[in-house]
Amino acid sequence: MYPLAKEIKEILDEKGININGTITTNGYLINRERINKFKEIGLTNFQITLDGNQKTHDKIRFGKNREGSFYTIMDNINLLVEEMDANVSVRINYTRKTLIDVNEIIDLFSEKTKSKIIVLFQQVWQDSIKENVSADENKKEFEKRGIKVRKHELNNNFHVCYADKEQQVIINHDGKVFKCTARDFNENFVQGELQSSGEIQWNIPAVSKRFGKYTFENEFCLKCNLLPACMGPCSQKMVELPEKFDAKFFRQMCLQDGVRKVIEQNMEEHYNSIANLKNDV
Ligand code: SF4
Repeated sequence: MYPLAKEIKEILDEKGININGTITTNGYLINRERINKFKEIGLTNFQITLDGNQKTHDKIRFGKNREGSFYTIMDNINLLVEEMDANVSVRINYTRKTLIDVNEIIDLFSEKTKSKIIVLFQQVWQDSIKENVSADENKKEFEKRGIKVRKHELNNNFHVCYADKEQQVIINHDGKVFKCTARDFNENFVQGELQSSGEIQWNIPAVSKRFGKYTFENEFCLKCNLLPACMGPCSQKMVELPEKFDAKFFRQMCLQDGVRKVIEQNMEEHYNSIANLKNDV
């Protein structure tokens, strides 16, 4: 990534255009030397995942000799913030069992890291299909001890996914252009090709199919009272819809369970914040 990003940055610097890099990484190999390279290429935003407290995390994420990665990653998160003031979002994957000890992580962040990072709690999907477990109590504790926690957000972007935006592209190492990061990077999903001029030669039929209709232009979304908060399934799912489909088929890609949950959580958070205000008065 480094040589490519460096060259892109040089070209953009000449044109007076800012570049901001974001990376999702396990955080294991970060060190001072790499941090200097991050600075050079304008890589400032990091998402790093932890799978629980040290004991839980190291059972899942270990190296060749089965040595755990937890403390290395924690040190590296602190290093990123201390050395380069990076924006780090720490995703904590949890299950009902692992949530119990997860607050132990708080004390391992440096004071500066606590004030700078944002934490995102995410229930492991294999666990959430059995039962939804709220991390609200943990979130409260993180916030009480000075760490920002990502709130449940409703979609106010008029699109569900970044792939629904016309200007978003994924350029593969071979110059093939894709839109969706949740599908294979093979010929079936190619949307265009990067030319040596730097322009993209789009596959017009594929792109027209994706953008010819809004993601909610179907009989179910247009009648749905959740539409303003949802905007329908993503463009990739809509592209994959067969010509004819019934309600049962559409239900598999309908987002109503998630949207309702976010609305309920937002209402609860709002109610609690008002109740807390009243208590303070
Ligand atoms: S909840 Fe389902 S039907 Fe309603 S807008 Fe979203 S995807 Fe469409």
